[in-house]
Amino acid sequence: MGKIYDLIILGAGPAGLAAGIYAGRDRLDTLIIEKGQDGGQIAITNEIENYPGSKLEGESGPSLIARMTAQVEKFGAQRESDTIKSVELDGDVKTLHGTKGDYQAKAVILALGAHPRPIGCKNEEKFVGRGISFCATCDAGFFEDFEVYVVGGGNSAVEEAMYLTHYARKVTVIHRRDALRADELVQEKAFKTPKLEFMWNSVVEEVDGDDLLNKMIVKNTKTGELTTIEADPEDGLFGLFGFIGYLPNTDVVKGAVELDERGYIPTDADMATNVPGVFAAGDVRPKSLRQVVTAAADGAIAAKAAYRYIDSLK
Ligand code: NAP
Repeated sequence: MGKIYDLIILGAGPAGLAAGIYAGRDRLDTLIIEKGQDGGQIAITNEIENYPGSKLEGESGPSLIARMTAQVEKFGAQRESDTIKSVELDGDVKTLHGTKGDYQAKAVILALGAHPRPIGCKNEEKFVGRGISFCATCDAGFFEDFEVYVVGGGNSAVEEAMYLTHYARKVTVIHRRDALRADELVQEKAFKTPKLEFMWNSVVEEVDGDDLLNKMIVKNTKTGELTTIEADPEDGLFGLFGFIGYLPNTDVVKGAVELDERGYIPTDADMATNVPGVFAAGDVRPKSLRQVVTAAADGAIAAKAAYRYIDSLK
């Protein structure tokens, strides 16, 4: 049998990295496995203003994450880049099956994060990357002087819509109700933002185009009326950004750990799941506030709980 780590942390977003810092400082033999780049969703976040201690000016997701990664390195957690395909979490030794090999540990922290919820319209998949996007920071530049539509009414939709007005000729927020969910302060700012308009009681039914997105059908949720929106012929394209919440990345642990009805991993106050030695941290848990600060706090609590669990096995 190969090496058995004390702890494997699955995911290197703020929750996983915070867990890595705490586990490293507790001298746990720790491996962090991440399939993509560090940072999870904030790897594509342009501005981080509300993480306590972040720089007052010019703090981006990547700049904050780079410092967290350096802290993890300082305290000695090992790193592996791999995609885990299946897991065996019962018993004293947990096994994770990756594309590069198997990994074993006494305890596991699932810091798997979440991904954007699809808009849910016909032909959506065909136009992702061809007009449809879920990341304004990544793709705003492609829509310089074009028309852009944003689906959603929460903080993400409204803040990203304001950001997009710096690039687009006009930005229209399409929201399924007639009132925003976004915080009052965000709303006040949005209603004063030039080039930002709202299409209330509306959902996108279908998108279309030749190669690039240039047509969509929007339905009025009150009257059922269908409106066809077409790109300006001189543009030949418009942008459609979706910000309607997130779905947990829990497919890989389905059946191995308890999930709630929406697919999130319930835990107790110490981040323990229903399986002994398996903890969950960050956006993958049911919670009311998904922020860097809450993810990092979860990671710290989970690592400390994992330390106590591992100690109890001796
Ligand atoms: P959210 O607050 O859950 O809002 C999701 C929005 O999408 C809601 O307006 C919802 O409409 C709409 N929606 C959901 N499903 C839909 C569907 N199938 N079709 C059309 N519209 C749909 O999500 P979020 O904006 O991504 O924010 C997530 C969390 O992060 C929140 O806690 C938020 O406060 C936080 N956040 C904070 C900041 C900040 O502090 N600066 C920035 C971004 C996010 P209804 O309103 O009708 O339900």
